[in-house]
Amino acid sequence: MNIEQNKPLKDLTTFKIGGNADYFISINHYDDIKKAVFFAKKNNLKTFILGKGSNIIFDSKGFNGLVIHVNIDFCKLYNNNLIVGAGYSFPLLGHITAKNDLGGLEFAKGVPGSVGGAIFMNASAFGQNVSDSLISVQCLTENNQIVNLKKNECNFEYRDSIFQKNKMIILSARFLLQNNNDALKIQKEMLDKKLLNQPLNERNAGCIFKNPKDTSARKIIESCDLLNCQVGGAKISLKHANFIINENEASSDDVLNLIKHVKQVVFEKTKINLYEEVKYIPY
Ligand SMILES: Cc1cc2nc3c(=O)[nH]c(=O)nc-3n(C[C@H](O)[C@H](O)[C@H](O)COP(=O)(O)OP(=O)(O)OC[C@H]3O[C@@H](n4cnc5c(N)ncnc54)[C@H](O)[C@@H]3O)c2cc1C
Repeated sequence: MNIEQNKPLKDLTTFKIGGNADYFISINHYDDIKKAVFFAKKNNLKTFILGKGSNIIFDSKGFNGLVIHVNIDFCKLYNNNLIVGAGYSFPLLGHITAKNDLGGLEFAKGVPGSVGGAIFMNASAFGQNVSDSLISVQCLTENNQIVNLKKNECNFEYRDSIFQKNKMIILSARFLLQNNNDALKIQKEMLDKKLLNQPLNERNAGCIFKNPKDTSARKIIESCDLLNCQVGGAKISLKHANFIINENEASSDDVLNLIKHVKQVVFEKTKINLYEEVKYIPY
């Protein structure tokens, strides 16, 4: 096992924010995950499971524990069945499946995470959810047992899954996809819409807030005149009000204070509570 010390975290995230992790390991094999978990327990270290870092804000002080980067990245496609490692690129999975005229994961090409992160978050866009075509998830329990959860055991809800509560580490997933000769066309339409509407070329962590029932956080934030609002190096995107941009070496405090400000103003003006989709990882 190659455990690194004082590992800079910011370049492992799309936000480009974060100090150093006291300990860090990138895992390619199931056995190494068990060893990493054992190492953390033995040394009384807290752990954080990292995918592709596209939905998180690491603290600028870093992380005083062990960051386990799940990098298990195999992908086996046979007929309509797919078995894929949790560290596999979700956009690449979307690309490969659509190219093979398989429908169900077209939206994945625009979601810059890992398969494990997408399942943990129940990622979705344009009416498609990762859970729609999922059959089962293989994971490591807190007791170091490898188990398979069927889709209906994963408690998927909007941006939620059982994995946000049970501390299991997602290792791989099985999907069943539908034949669809239009998959590539559908995917292109989705990507074109995303490029038009989202600041994809800037440093961000995707949507900051969950959409409240029957409305969008973007519209609410816009209606409260918060576009372009800034704290330190963190700014509300002009292109999409539910995105915060790390414009100028923003710290985690800049982002957290901007989030707090947006929530306060939105509540004062609309009496609506916004809840974060993005995950802040404290030191
Ligand atoms: C430009 C941009 C566009 C985006 N568009 C969308 C979109 O359209 N739809 C959407 O839903 N999201 C979107 N996102 C958000 C993000 O890409 C998704 O939430 C993605 O699924 C997160 O995956 P990740 O691997 O990056 O997870 P990370 O950010 O690394 O982690 C997120 C959470 O998942 C947990 N986790 C990750 N891997 C595992 C694992 N193997 N086992 C257990 N827990 C794990 C982490 O501990 C953490 O709590 C966007 C983000 C960006 C930057």
